[in-house]
Formats: sequence, C-alpha cells, structure tokens
Amino acid sequence: MVACLGVSEPVAGSDVANIKTRAKKKGDDYVINGSKTWITNGHQADWTCLLVNTGDGPAHKNKSLICVPLDSEGVTRGRRIDKLGMYCSDTAELFFEDVRVPQSNLIGQEGAGFFYQMLQFQEERLFVGAGVLLPLDMMIADTIEYTKNRKVFGKSVLDNQVVHFRLAELQTEVELLRSLLYRATALYVQGQDVTRLASMVKLKAGRLVREVSDACLQYYGGMGFTSDMPISRYYRDTRVLSIAGGADEVMLGIISKCMGSLPK
Ligand SMILES: Cc1cc2nc3c(=O)[nH]c(=O)nc-3n(C[C@H](O)[C@H](O)[C@H](O)COP(=O)(O)OP(=O)(O)OC[C@H]3O[C@@H](n4cnc5c(N)ncnc54)[C@H](O)[C@@H]3O)c2cc1C
Repeated sequence: MVACLGVSEPVAGSDVANIKTRAKKKGDDYVINGSKTWITNGHQADWTCLLVNTGDGPAHKNKSLICVPLDSEGVTRGRRIDKLGMYCSDTAELFFEDVRVPQSNLIGQEGAGFFYQMLQFQEERLFVGAGVLLPLDMMIADTIEYTKNRKVFGKSVLDNQVVHFRLAELQTEVELLRSLLYRATALYVQGQDVTRLASMVKLKAGRLVREVSDACLQYYGGMGFTSDMPISRYYRDTRVLSIAGGADEVMLGIISKCMGSLPK
C-alpha cells in the first residue's frame, strides 16, 4: 500500500491551522469536502492521512486526522504538478466532494489532529536531516574526484587552494549537521520533546544542501550545468528542502518561540 500525507491546501501551507477541508458526521460516517495540494505520492497512493476540520472551536483544537482510501467515491486526483526538480516523485492536487468514510477511520482522538501533526513534523524534520547526509557526502566526494582529474591551466582544478579549502569547509559543516542530528535523534528516541533541535536540523539541512550543491556545481564548470552530471540533479532536487515540510522562515519562527524571543 502506498500512503500520502494530506495536510497542505491552496490557502494553507506554512499556516497549517488555516486549512478549510471539513469532515462532518453523518450516521456512522464522516462526510468530507475540500481540497489538498502539493501531495507527494498523491497520484499513486492507495490512501491518505488527511488533516481536516471536525469542529468549530479554536484552530489548534478543532482538527482531526482521518484515513481516507483514495478510491472512495467523490475523490478526484487533479493535475500532476510540474516541478523544478524531484521528477521521480509525483506531486498531486486532491479534491474531496461528499466523500464518505466510516468514523472508525479516525486516527486517535477527534480534535487532536493538529497536535498529532505537529508531533509527526518532528520526525519528518529529523528525517530531512538524515536524508541529506549521504547526498552531502557524495556531492563533496564526487567533486573531489572530478576536479582531481580535470586539468585547467596545466594543473588539477582541485589543486587550487580556494577549491580544496572550500570543500574542506563544507565537509566540516556536514559533520556539524551530522552531530546535531545524532544528538536530536538520541533525545527523541529517549522520548524527549525535540521541537527546538529538530527545527534547527531542518533549517540547517535545507540551507547546507543548497550551499553544497551550488558550490560543488561551480567546480564542474560547464559540465555541472548538464544533465550528464549527478550534481545538476542534486542542485535541482534539493532546492525544495528549504520549503517543503516547513519553510526555513517557519523553522526560524519555531526556534525563536522555543528561545522565548518571538513577539507574542
Ligand atoms: C515538492 C513538494 C512536496 C510536498 N509534499 C507535501 C505533502 O506530501 N503533503 C503536504 O501536506 N504538503 C506537502 N508540501 C507542501 C509544503 O509543506 C508547503 O509547500 C510548505 O509548507 C510551504 O507552504 P506554501 O507552499 O503554501 O508556502 P506559503 O505558506 O505561501 O509561504 C511562502 C513563503 O513565505 C515565507 N513565509 C512563510 N511563513 C513565514 C513567516 N512566518 N515569516 C517569514 N516568512 C514566511 C517563506 O519563505 C515561504 O516559503 C510539498 C511541497 C512541495 C513543493
């Protein structure tokens, strides 16, 4: 079974609390109306874990997560969104018109969906950090290999101090990210709230992967701008990591809140 996470909507990406999709109880069912966008795997998924409004109370206490099979009557999959990168991953719009699912498809408690979603984001943000470590190492290693063999002005590109020093700096940043991720993950496994550290991991991972892919691509010269080189794909595919799963600015807001420095 392929699953997908249905949170974002056209009017609610960073501001998750502003979602409009609603589920109303009718008999033993929920009847769902609304739409989602940016849904990774949305075209191939069998079901979605859908964040919906189930009440009219405060925005953080009126939401629930409901498991919705995507072959249900009233579900329409919209266009396949044409993206800058991540071509291997489909990104869909989903529409729900009077979609009925049994109330037993509710995940956990009604009204706790926003809280559950924020908990899930902690894991997703650690996962982003873990997911970029290998690409970061590979980008730097591949660039060393390429620049060692590429001769310009009679010597290897790598032998220019500006090049091997820059790669050494970037590898140092990668090791710092690795340490932060391991520390945050160890605390998470112990059952601690790692909102602050997980948000820092996500912020740093998104920014570092952009910095490394851009710096490494530069040292390939024109070849870096071609589809023949994996570095061009890294450059395209990793750009989204400062946006999806919570933009950098959203991470900075959470970190500021944890530090007590966010204006009320
Ligand atoms: C490829 C891809 C896959 C995705 N997969 C999924 C998925 O599977 N499921 C899902 O539910 N969603 C998914 N998303 C949605 C993603 O989580 C949102 O795109 C993201 O949260 C940003 O929301 P938005 O695009 O509506 O940007 P907006 O909310 O419109 O924000 C635009 C920009 O405004 C700035 N901004 C926002 N808030 C602040 C602030 N408080 N202070 C300062 N600046 C701010 C940021 O720079 C931000 O990038 C995916 C997105 C992409 C691009």
